[in-house]
Amino acid sequence: MKPSVIRQAEILCVGTELLIGDIVNTNAAYIARRLATLGIGVYRQSVVGDNPARLAEDLRAALDRVDLVITSGGLGPTYDDLTKETAAAVFGREMFLHEESLARIEAYFAATGRVMTDNNRKQAMMPQGAVVFPNDYGTAPALALVREDGKTLVMLPGPPRELEPLFREQVEPFLHPRCDAVLFSRNIHIAGMGESAVENALPRDLLESANPTLAPYCAEGEVRLRVTAKAPDEREAAALCDSMIERIRQTPVAPYIYGIDTPSAEAALVELLKARGLTVATAESCTGGLIAKRLTDISGCSAAVAGGAVTYQTREKTAILGVDPALIKAHSVVSPQVAEAMAKGALARFDTDLAIATTGFAGPGGGTERDPVGTVYIAVATKKEVHCRRLSLSPWRDRAYIRTVAATNAILDAWRLLNDVHLPKERP
Ligand code: ATP
Repeated sequence: MKPSVIRQAEILCVGTELLIGDIVNTNAAYIARRLATLGIGVYRQSVVGDNPARLAEDLRAALDRVDLVITSGGLGPTYDDLTKETAAAVFGREMFLHEESLARIEAYFAATGRVMTDNNRKQAMMPQGAVVFPNDYGTAPALALVREDGKTLVMLPGPPRELEPLFREQVEPFLHPRCDAVLFSRNIHIAGMGESAVENALPRDLLESANPTLAPYCAEGEVRLRVTAKAPDEREAAALCDSMIERIRQTPVAPYIYGIDTPSAEAALVELLKARGLTVATAESCTGGLIAKRLTDISGCSAAVAGGAVTYQTREKTAILGVDPALIKAHSVVSPQVAEAMAKGALARFDTDLAIATTGFAGPGGGTERDPVGTVYIAVATKKEVHCRRLSLSPWRDRAYIRTVAATNAILDAWRLLNDVHLPKERP
């Protein structure tokens, strides 16, 4: 009999630690993301403590509702690890000693020089008829049980460093023949245009399209459009996404697109600088070197990133970047005039094609009536021009957020300047 198609799933994570908030349920998020790529819709995610009666109840209910149930946790060697035993009872299967798993567990202990205790044998006990997925990353194997009607239960160990590779390497190939579609997404990254402006610029039929779907997201300093297509295979789904992206490239949004599936703003900027043979320098106050750090996170950046200065105190802005003390006195250190002077100073000092500067109040202390905490002046300069923008973030956001978002905006402003994409012409 051909196994039935799997279209819907539920994720059930087992562990009292999760219920009481001791650990965050990253496994559910991971499994859900992977199931999406298989075209399997996740209908519910739930958490149950280490309690066999409640677990049995949840397993039965979930198996009644959907084609596939995936559990994480409770496969360990201790008395409270009861997922397998409970599943065996729900499926009406006896437990037996799976010799192959026992041999692997013994070998794992021998290789890691640890002493194997008797209860580790428990991890080699399997319900009759289980499909066993050997675990190369720990001791508890993963397993699947398939009911006569095709309903399937996959059980995975709790630790993410075991669960994630097991899922990718073994569970996905097991599920794949039973999936009739794949979901495939591409992300369009947009800088310099707000979410509602992006929506307004897109034709309605694109926004309402059922396949692919188009979903706008507002992220830190950018707008992201996620295009998702469902098709029998990845090639077809990717082609559907690409044709929608082509249509988006015909809209007024096009000049603002800084990348498709680009890992980060800094990756886009470094790539652009390298492609044009240009160099960049940074002059940072409130971002404290974060921009330089992020640019230098990109491997191969040395062709484009000349260097940078963290000039936190006023004296350093003058000594290193040559900012006129009179200018600082006249306008204050957090001002567009000083941000511009810092950018021009870095351009001269490092002799680069482009410079990025920031000065602002990251909080929680500081700020003025004109420029409260969350105000950051971002300046970008080339040999021909200098632009400055005032970024006003909520003073209630924490210091780390303000610095991160300021850095992202500064990097994207540099990208915009090089691409001639709407930067304010007037000083703020
Ligand atoms: P072990 O063999 O390590 O006992 P197990 O399958 O019995 O594995 P649990 O005992 O439930 O798994 O969890 C082991 C550890 O895995 C937890 O302490 C936690 O660090 C991590 N973990 C468990 N469930 C999750 C989850 N849903 N999300 C993230 N981490 C988890």
